[in-house]
Amino acid sequence: MKKTDIKSLFYEELEQRLAQMGEKPFRAKQVYGWLHEKMAVDFGQMSNLSLTLRQRLEEEFYLTVLEPVEVKISKIDGTRKYLFRLEDGNVIESVWMKYRHGCSVCVSSQVGCRMGCGFCASTIEGLERNLTPAEMLEQVYRIQALTGERVSHVVVMGSGEPFDNYDTVVAFLRLLSHELGLHISLRNVTVSTCGLVPGILRFAEEGLPVTLALSLHGPNDSVRKTLMPVANRYPLSEVLDACRKYFEKTGRRLTFEYSLIKGVNDQLSLARELAALVGPLHGHVNLIPVNPVEEREYACSGKKDVLAFQEILKKAGIAVTIRREMGRDIHGACGQLRRSFRKKQSRNDNGPEWEGKGG
Ligand code: SAH
Repeated sequence: MKKTDIKSLFYEELEQRLAQMGEKPFRAKQVYGWLHEKMAVDFGQMSNLSLTLRQRLEEEFYLTVLEPVEVKISKIDGTRKYLFRLEDGNVIESVWMKYRHGCSVCVSSQVGCRMGCGFCASTIEGLERNLTPAEMLEQVYRIQALTGERVSHVVVMGSGEPFDNYDTVVAFLRLLSHELGLHISLRNVTVSTCGLVPGILRFAEEGLPVTLALSLHGPNDSVRKTLMPVANRYPLSEVLDACRKYFEKTGRRLTFEYSLIKGVNDQLSLARELAALVGPLHGHVNLIPVNPVEEREYACSGKKDVLAFQEILKKAGIAVTIRREMGRDIHGACGQLRRSFRKKQSRNDNGPEWEGKGG
């Protein structure tokens, strides 16, 4: 019999499975608590269950646990970037950031990505596979266990396109916010998309008070098309219509992400166009000085240009921030740590060297 991934089951599903095994309903509460609140790494730890039940769980289920293989700690701001190994040997990365308001984890939703954005390292080798809900949760659980600090905020802004792995991401959000688990408020969660219209529309109907971030990177289709292949599939007008619907349904203000690339999308005329575009949407604009990726030719806009770009938006009455460059010294942007790890792996026939392990 194929074993079931127990950490990906909803509470009700777990309850049902345990009932089928002849267990009383309160057992589901205990097991769920072990999995999602105490973040157990094996069934043996579940000390208030009988040995027989633990053995039966072992026979029917498996526990997804991520193995940290590398951690880099930023000397600038203490940001930590973790590289985790999955059961099948793939590696993914997650980032831990500490702010005044709490601790935030940036999680990946896929191994690699197939969206092909020109400035992003996650997409260089395409999509390897989707993550499971348990693999997404584990990024938060392991980091909370390793840092010993409660995670209060989660952003789905690591590698992968969340709406290209839709069901998993929604299951992840429900499990993450469940009262018998870490119980993280969905108001403290942001999901970032490159603009898959059907995903945005479906997400609006889920009844989840999550902040949606749209990766804009250009104020019109022609600029977006030079950077993001997805812009050929969904024109900006459709994407923004879907965003408007998201706001109407959820009441949550959107975030627009705009990575500034020297000479490509940082001209002041584009700032004015951006102001006109997003002004009526009452969203918040987050400017991200692009993190240069070795394989790509894009360079970061100069500081002065970034500030001038921001000023135009401010003057137009738009809420705009420049993303703090957290962890730039430790391969801050999506997919860069995994990419450097894979390059090291392919250079080293005798297996990888854990250079940098432990920070
Ligand atoms: N697939 C999702 C999540 C991606 S990561 C999306 O496209 O929104 C979160 C943000 O970082 C996105 O806006 C993405 O475009 C941006 N990003 C990726 N690589 C970057 C880089 N090297 N420099 C700056 N921003 C980058």
